[in-house]
Amino acid sequence: MKAIINAVLCLKDHYVPNGVLLMENGKIADFGAAKDIKIPDGCEIIDAEGNFVGPGLIDIHTHGDGETYFHEDPIKCSRTLLSHGVTSVLPALFYSMNKEEHLEAIRKFKAAKEMGECKNLLGVYMEGPYLNPDFGCDKEKNVWKDAILEKDYAEIVEAARDMAKVWCVAPEREGIVDFVKYVKREIPEIVFSVAHSEATPEQIEALMPYGLRLGTHHTNATGTLENYPEVRGVCVDETVNFNDGIYAELICDSKGVHVHPYMIRLIKKIKGQDKIILIADAFVADGPPIPGLEDAFDINFDHGGDIAGSKLTLDIACRNMMVHTGASVCDVFRYASKNPATLLNLPEYGEIKKGNIANIIIVDQWFNVKNTILKGEEENA
Ligand SMILES: [Zn+2]
Repeated sequence: MKAIINAVLCLKDHYVPNGVLLMENGKIADFGAAKDIKIPDGCEIIDAEGNFVGPGLIDIHTHGDGETYFHEDPIKCSRTLLSHGVTSVLPALFYSMNKEEHLEAIRKFKAAKEMGECKNLLGVYMEGPYLNPDFGCDKEKNVWKDAILEKDYAEIVEAARDMAKVWCVAPEREGIVDFVKYVKREIPEIVFSVAHSEATPEQIEALMPYGLRLGTHHTNATGTLENYPEVRGVCVDETVNFNDGIYAELICDSKGVHVHPYMIRLIKKIKGQDKIILIADAFVADGPPIPGLEDAFDINFDHGGDIAGSKLTLDIACRNMMVHTGASVCDVFRYASKNPATLLNLPEYGEIKKGNIANIIIVDQWFNVKNTILKGEEENA
């Protein structure tokens, strides 16, 4: 048995000051106010020193650790992320990887897990391959612009069958419905996400019965219809905002470049506490900063003068969300742990609750990670 003492426990929607949390066999055994929890004799003590104690972060969409792609060195990336409090991660593959590169990446992830490494790797996030080639960074490297054919994707779906948790699509691509039906048949629990798209609300909503429940990096790499020259059109952003059943991923960088702080506040108001999911979307690009953004430490740039994902880890995204919106520590645990766990149907994750997996982090008031506990074991003690 282990006990975390002197903790401000962050529950789903409130705090327990001066709290205690007990862990046994990798699970949360009990928790509550210190006066109500008896700490057994001989219990190993972890002193939170008055800091916040909440569920480990779940990053459903990131390509690496800001320096290295996940598929190039999964073990390194997994460790870096753990030190930032990310106890669950879905590394993201993307449209500039060809079929062989997709298969190789999935093989590497499986091999690392078989070696007992990458303990925080939960599965994989498929950011492609069938997105709208007009949107996103490094567009010229997109190798999936041609017709959607089963002979091209069947092997990837087969390889990803027990790994893929989220599959991104551009609903306007010709043949996408057959692709979605195929993936749904092979991987029934898959979550589809609208990504890199200028689909109409009708095209997006038509995929909701198959499990489209997510908007990838909401308000980034999406189009707006141009057939209303002086009136705002409706497209992906509006559809994600409108539908309560669709979660919105947000990249919260320190400068509010991916999403303007005012827009973040607007989305927070529209989507509410339950449908925001913070992501890092860390990418590896070595283009020069856009003039004026030289000091943006958590943003990446491609060679075409575009932003290209981030250099974020999810702990920093949580801090940025607090700064841009006034969200509390309790709120951001919800956006970066509880909500992604609910999206992925992981009831034992994302919340301090008896019987849940003891993935726990200790953070200060500005979300600096002091300690990461994975299945009851301290990772960076
Ligand atoms: Zn993207």
